[in-house]
Amino acid sequence: MTAAVLTLNAGSSSLKLALFPAAGDAPLATGQADRIGPDGTLRIAAAGGAALPVPPGDLTSHAGALAAALAGFRAAFPDLDLRAVGHRVVHGGTDYAAPVTVTDAILADLARLEPFAPLHQPHNLAGIRAAMAAFPQVPQVACFDTAFHRAHPWVHDTFALPRDYYDRGVRRYGFHGLSYDYIAGALPRIVPEVALGRVVVAHLGNGASICAIHEGRSVASSMGFSALDGLAMGTRCGQLDPGVMLYLMEQEGMAPAAISDLLYRRSGLLGLSGLSNDMRTLEAAGSPEAEQAIAYFTTRIRHQLGAMAAVLGGIDAVVFTGGIGENSARVRAEVCETTGWMGIAVDPARNARNATVISPDGAPVPVLVVPTNEELVIARAARAAARS
Ligand code: ADP
Repeated sequence: MTAAVLTLNAGSSSLKLALFPAAGDAPLATGQADRIGPDGTLRIAAAGGAALPVPPGDLTSHAGALAAALAGFRAAFPDLDLRAVGHRVVHGGTDYAAPVTVTDAILADLARLEPFAPLHQPHNLAGIRAAMAAFPQVPQVACFDTAFHRAHPWVHDTFALPRDYYDRGVRRYGFHGLSYDYIAGALPRIVPEVALGRVVVAHLGNGASICAIHEGRSVASSMGFSALDGLAMGTRCGQLDPGVMLYLMEQEGMAPAAISDLLYRRSGLLGLSGLSNDMRTLEAAGSPEAEQAIAYFTTRIRHQLGAMAAVLGGIDAVVFTGGIGENSARVRAEVCETTGWMGIAVDPARNARNATVISPDGAPVPVLVVPTNEELVIARAARAAARS
C-alpha cells in the first residue's frame, strides 16, 4: 500500500494538486489543471518533474479535472491508499485559527464567508465539494490563508471605522498565511539564533504581501480585509486611498463589478507597465513603463519594510519568498538599496545566485531567500487529521 495525502488548491479556473507520502517533504506526484472549461488542460508529473500520462477526462469542471488527475495518480501508484485531502481555503473568518476537518456544518459556515472573498472562496469550496464526492470516507481538511494572522493585536486587526464594523467582520485579516507558516517553521533550521526574534517576511508572487513575525507568530500584515491591500501585485492595485473608489463611483459612474475588475485584474504591474503582470517579462522589457512598474513595486515593499520595522521595534531577519522573492535578484537588490541604515543590505554575488543567505558576512541583519512550500503545510495538516 502507498499511504498518501492529497493537497488541493482550487482557483477560479485552475486546480493544483500534490500527492504526498505518509512521511517526508517531497511529493510523490503533482498535477496542475489550467483554463478549466472548454479549453482545459491538465499536466501531471512524478517526483522530480517527469510527466506522467494524462488519462482522458472531462476538464470542463473542477470535479472532472480532479477525477482525471486522480486516475493518472492511480495509474502511477496502483496500490494508492488515500488517507486525507488537505485544501487551501483563502478565508477562515474570525473563528478558524487552525486547520479543521470539514463537516457539512463547517462547509456551510465557510460558504457564509464567500462575500468576504468572492473571487476565491467559492472556488476553494467547490474543490472541497468535489473531493468530498470523490472520497466520502476520507477526512477533508481546510487550511486557511487567514489563520496564521488570527492572533494579531487589536490595533493591527481593525480599521478606524465605527466599532460595529469590526464586530460585523470588517477587519484586517491578512492572507498568504500558509506561506508565512511554512517560513516561520523553516527558520529555526536556517537561522536558529534569530528565528524567534523579529522577522519580516516578504511573500512576492503574483499576489504579494509582507508580514511582521515575532516569536514565530504573525503580528501585522500588509494585506487587510481583502487580498487587494498593501503591496502592488501582478494585476492588483495594492494600497489605495479609498477616496479613489468614491471618485470612480460618483464621478465616473463605475459599477461595483467594473471597479472589482479594475482593482483585481487590470492594475498592479500590468496596469502600470501596460505590458504584463509577469516580473520576468518586465525585467526583460526595459521600457520606461516597465521600469516604472518595477520601481513602484520595490518602493512599496521598502515602504512596508520600514513600517514593519517600526511595528516590531527593529528587525532581526528579513526573508524573501514567492516566485519573485525567490528568483528576482534585481527586485531584492532594489528593495535593499536604501535600507543599509537599518542594517539590511545584500551581497551582490550571493544575491545573484539566489543563495539562502544574501546579506554580507557580519551584517547585523541576515537577509534570506527561502523557497516557500504552502503544499507541505497543507499536507502536514492533512496527515495530522488522518492520524487523529
Ligand atoms: P503565485 O502567486 O501565482 O503562486 P508565484 O509565486 O509563482 O505566483 O510568482 C510568480 C511571479 O514570479 C511572476 O511575476 C514571475 O515573473 C516571477 N518570477 C518567477 N521566476 C522569476 C525570475 N527568475 N526572475 C524574476 N521573476 C520571476
